[in-house]
Amino acid sequence: MSAPDLDERPRRTFAVISHPDAGKSTLTEALALHASVISEAGAVHGKAGRRGTVSDWMEMERARGISITSAALQFSYGGHVVNLVDTPGHSDFSEDTYRVLSAVDSAVMLVDAAKGLEPQTMKLFKVCTLRGIPVITVINKWDRPGLEALELMDLIEQQIGLKPTPLTWPVGESGDFRGVLDRRDGGFIAYTRTAGGATRAPERRMDPAEALASEGEAWSRAEEEHELLSADDADHDPEAFLAGRSTPVLFGSALLNFGVARILDELLTVAPGPGPTTAVDGSVRRPDDEFSAFVFKVQSGMNAAHRDRLAYARVCSGVFERGMVVTHARTGRPFATKYAQTVMGRERTSVETALPGDIVGLVNAAALRPGDTIYAGPAVDYPPIATFAPEHFATASNVETGRSKQFRKGIEQLDQEGAIQVLRSDVRGDANPVLAAVGPMQFEVVQARMQAEFGVPIRLETLSYSLARVTDAAGAEMLAGTSGAEVLSRSDGTRLAVFADKWRMASVLRQHPDLHLEPLPAGV
Ligand code: GDP
Repeated sequence: MSAPDLDERPRRTFAVISHPDAGKSTLTEALALHASVISEAGAVHGKAGRRGTVSDWMEMERARGISITSAALQFSYGGHVVNLVDTPGHSDFSEDTYRVLSAVDSAVMLVDAAKGLEPQTMKLFKVCTLRGIPVITVINKWDRPGLEALELMDLIEQQIGLKPTPLTWPVGESGDFRGVLDRRDGGFIAYTRTAGGATRAPERRMDPAEALASEGEAWSRAEEEHELLSADDADHDPEAFLAGRSTPVLFGSALLNFGVARILDELLTVAPGPGPTTAVDGSVRRPDDEFSAFVFKVQSGMNAAHRDRLAYARVCSGVFERGMVVTHARTGRPFATKYAQTVMGRERTSVETALPGDIVGLVNAAALRPGDTIYAGPAVDYPPIATFAPEHFATASNVETGRSKQFRKGIEQLDQEGAIQVLRSDVRGDANPVLAAVGPMQFEVVQARMQAEFGVPIRLETLSYSLARVTDAAGAEMLAGTSGAEVLSRSDGTRLAVFADKWRMASVLRQHPDLHLEPLPAGV
């Protein structure tokens, strides 16, 4: 299959992940400055009041200055097509971030040089390790006083268990950023400060002798530390990186735009492109096999003008051509792709073709859910995306009793989209489902969307549970009537035992030693 406008350049598909405030939005803008943007699929960057593409599908987003939705930004760089899959920055939306990570081949982890490894940094590193996603670490904000470079390397090795293998090493301590030593050739990439730092930062290369003459002690120290690192086996090892045992490290400043081009260069040289994808039955689709893709995100009500459902799918194999009719693996039914689009703010443009690694937005995709597979040719079904252990629970009830049909429909749709997990039990009945979330802000999103999209005001009452484990039918019987614990069912049939806290769980286990409890898959 070949289409006339098929852009066959190699792909790199990645996400930038970080604890909020580490500089993700700043870096995304800086990356766009170095690259030529091809298209933007509903990508959301920038905070309230800042320049940048700010999605407007929800008032809440604007009011809080955070991005709730996530899609992808596509650009050209160095003969490649780069897909930057956007992750929501707010820690409450970690569930969505986890899903997005199932669509990328590598991740760039931003670490604030002053703050080191923050809670969200740790969680995200762990998810990448579990998923086998290679991570390039970028120590950001080196222009500001912070921790020592060697200390940061120790933190990564000890707290995350990944061997840091710096590709560049800072010259001048944090707060006195002169540039970096390029550990590949031992040369100096000098940073020249420009007024405001708004444009591309000028970078000048010098050989070691010139660097010593120019930077003196700061250069000697960088060289010495570079040698210490080599003696400690901290040189880039492609095999260890791809196997998720080591992480190449770069130093820079997203705000001053220093080291940003280098991140892109390394993505092309060390990060992997799209590889084979393994299906539920263990069979493998290679990128050049027939078309297949999986849905990693579903989004509704993006704005008033397009009140429909958009499913974002990552192409795993073959060539996607708009108009092709594919098969939806879960239902076995045909799915027409004549409305495949990318979305830029309010604007939508058609996608004509896409290759493995690319992200396509499928409009009117009411049947598609996160984790679903679509394919052409021989049948294939990719494994579902792991759901994460909810830590916040609330009951939802319909305030206007006359609208119970809309209430049911809305709750069902938000459950299918993965906006929230919906749990039920015979005791509670259908009118009072329990909503379960990874972050409490998911509740506010559900409440706002129930009102805006289904015209149903809902009341939420927080439950004092904070822990969920998978159990079985026997577990449900054992826990009936126990205070501080309850068994609820997800729509996929999984039974979750929920507990107020780990002490309550331990006490219940002492009473019922036979109780079957297991952590949620890939829960962190
Ligand atoms: P996000 O929450 O991760 O998207 O972080 P932002 O990109 O919004 O950055 C948070 C704050 O850190 C903003 O005030 C940025 O201007 C600032 N910032 C980002 N990168 C740098 C940097 O390299 N150096 C300095 N000094 N500040 C930075």
